[in-house]
Amino acid sequence: MTGSPPTPGPAADLLSRVRACRACTDLPLGPRPILQWSPSARLLIAGQAPGRVTHERGRPFDDASGERLRDWLGVTPAQFYDDTRVAIIPMGFCFPGSGKSGDAPPRPECAPLWRDLLLTPLTSLELTIVIGRYAADWHFGARRGSLTDHVRDWRVEWPRRILLPHPSPRNNGWLARNQWFERDLLPELRARVAALMGAR
Ligand code: SF4
Repeated sequence: MTGSPPTPGPAADLLSRVRACRACTDLPLGPRPILQWSPSARLLIAGQAPGRVTHERGRPFDDASGERLRDWLGVTPAQFYDDTRVAIIPMGFCFPGSGKSGDAPPRPECAPLWRDLLLTPLTSLELTIVIGRYAADWHFGARRGSLTDHVRDWRVEWPRRILLPHPSPRNNGWLARNQWFERDLLPELRARVAALMGAR
């Protein structure tokens, strides 16, 4: 968890319960739930799961992927880690380990346990940024076609929701092949996020 300490009340209770979660007993580095949340958030970043670096640092997107994501959003680290405005709720809160081609999928136990409890209080949300396949399936439902097609259709639910590719350096090839993403989508995303960050 990041940002200011939770104030006493139901939100703090919920955060304490998430922090104490030990539902997955076979995590390679053990449980360390990492997310950012407060009920006042206006922007939600719904990603996959922490990577190894994030696990070690204890803060979401505190790695190369996060640097790129902040560039895509046009925000400073201080804005990004302001939990009164930005919620960062991945599909799995603990590092799930590594697979053959990158990190393992988010732990399936996590979303059914915590997701609705954390999302329901977010009544001030104005924009949800969904990142990657697992979060897309949860937030948009099962959908035919490739992730690229889905990202390319970004105007369908804009300006309330948008799907982005993962900002990992592993996706440099995707970004090179899909230059419309930086040319057309990112300027509108940055303008929208700037407006949200300026509003109280
Ligand atoms: S991944 Fe989620 S369900 Fe599993 S121990 Fe961590 S917080 Fe709990």
